[in-house]
Amino acid sequence: MTKVKVRFAPSPTGPLHIGGARSALFNFLYARRYGGELVIRSEDTDVERSRREYEDEIIESLEWLGINWDEGLKVGGANGPYRQTERADMYQELVDDLVDRGLAYPCFCTEEELEEERKQLLEQGEIVRYRGRCRNLSEEERRARLAQGIKPAIRLQVPPGRVYVVEDLVRGNVVFESDTMGDFIIMKSDGLPTYNFAVVIDDHLMGITHVIRAEEHLSNTPRQLAVYEALGFTPPKFAHVSLILGKDRQKMSKRHGATSVIQYRQRGYLSEALVNFLALLGWAPEGEEEILTLDDMINSFSLDRVAKNPAVFDIDKLNYINQQYIKQKTISELKEALRPFIAESPYADRVQKLGEDKYGLLVEGIRDYLVCLADVKENLSIFFDDPDYTPEAVEVLRQEGVGQVLDACQERLPDSFTQFDEAKKFLKTLIKETGFRPKMVYMPLRAAFTGLTRGLELPYLMSVWGSDECRRRLELARQQLPG
Ligand code: GLU
Repeated sequence: MTKVKVRFAPSPTGPLHIGGARSALFNFLYARRYGGELVIRSEDTDVERSRREYEDEIIESLEWLGINWDEGLKVGGANGPYRQTERADMYQELVDDLVDRGLAYPCFCTEEELEEERKQLLEQGEIVRYRGRCRNLSEEERRARLAQGIKPAIRLQVPPGRVYVVEDLVRGNVVFESDTMGDFIIMKSDGLPTYNFAVVIDDHLMGITHVIRAEEHLSNTPRQLAVYEALGFTPPKFAHVSLILGKDRQKMSKRHGATSVIQYRQRGYLSEALVNFLALLGWAPEGEEEILTLDDMINSFSLDRVAKNPAVFDIDKLNYINQQYIKQKTISELKEALRPFIAESPYADRVQKLGEDKYGLLVEGIRDYLVCLADVKENLSIFFDDPDYTPEAVEVLRQEGVGQVLDACQERLPDSFTQFDEAKKFLKTLIKETGFRPKMVYMPLRAAFTGLTRGLELPYLMSVWGSDECRRRLELARQQLPG
């Protein structure tokens, strides 16, 4: 069996989107599963919209996701260059060859003429296509037009009455008729190849065995098959992966929230979580387990288990997966991961001043409250701001006996107070020695210390604050007591 070689070929006209990332991931998993290779190249022939910054951003996103590749952009290889705009000579040579063999021809039609044809076809209820006006121009006619300075586009002469069958590994056989295609442009008048032409040449010259890409390219595939045929190349195997829909079953778009990988990174989704989630967008592992490491995925990925029907982007599921990965991190990993997010918050200096041990306690305390890392920002206020007592907290503080609880706590607070266990033990002893019911201690103290009736575990807060700050907060709370 030939070695598997796949590719991901983004157009650098924007950042890497969820759909693109999913295609890249499926290619990566497929390559790694079968001991093959992954190529990354840039389809940048849309010079108006392509930007080198986007290419850099796409590469950075792939690297962040942990998708690595064997050949192509950044890493180089034997089949470069890996940007289509730098491969113009190769395309030109093959275009010339097709024209020489009478399989392609120059087209001099103007925009207006093409528009006119389009309108007519629409009026007649026919499929819009180029009907071959320039196909049979004589050599003289061609020369005359060239002499007028008209730069022609080059069209492939599509054989009439042909049926193209895309043998798709996900969708089965999909049949297209050549008569609906019309002769299409393979090289624009500016000398740049069109996607359907360049992609075939790149895939062929780079030795690609499997083309795994988004379903939106399925309708391009018969045109590519026509190019393969004209050039005498053997086509690779195809697998078109379904669309990603929003929860409203509409195609995923900005309306559905963040669409680019960078945006998810900025919100503090972990790359492992996003990769896990993306893999499940269309692929179903065997078994029930949905939290999978990259190795798990590599060991079990197969195109047989990629679904034909659209995948639905469920943010709640991503959030759930992200939380699972956050919980799996060690405190020291999480401390590192959270630093950039804390740096963006108004509490950055105060966190810094805590020192490493207390910072660790803070992280441990809030870990279970994080859906994504950026949520840390909303969880810092409780550590550093004076309590803003909610009506519920005030109600708790006004219960009978609360004054005594606060007194007892204040009397027993040790001079220094730095460890989580110390704080925990302190509360237990307080209950034991005073004979109060646990609820009568925990609730009023929570209300007193934080101004809230729910939230982080008290011992974390208390050990980050230390005893002086606890004392200060008890004093503040007294002002809420009746009388
Ligand atoms: N450049 C195309 C895109 O970004 C990919 C085409 C392909 O994979 O063949 O959608």
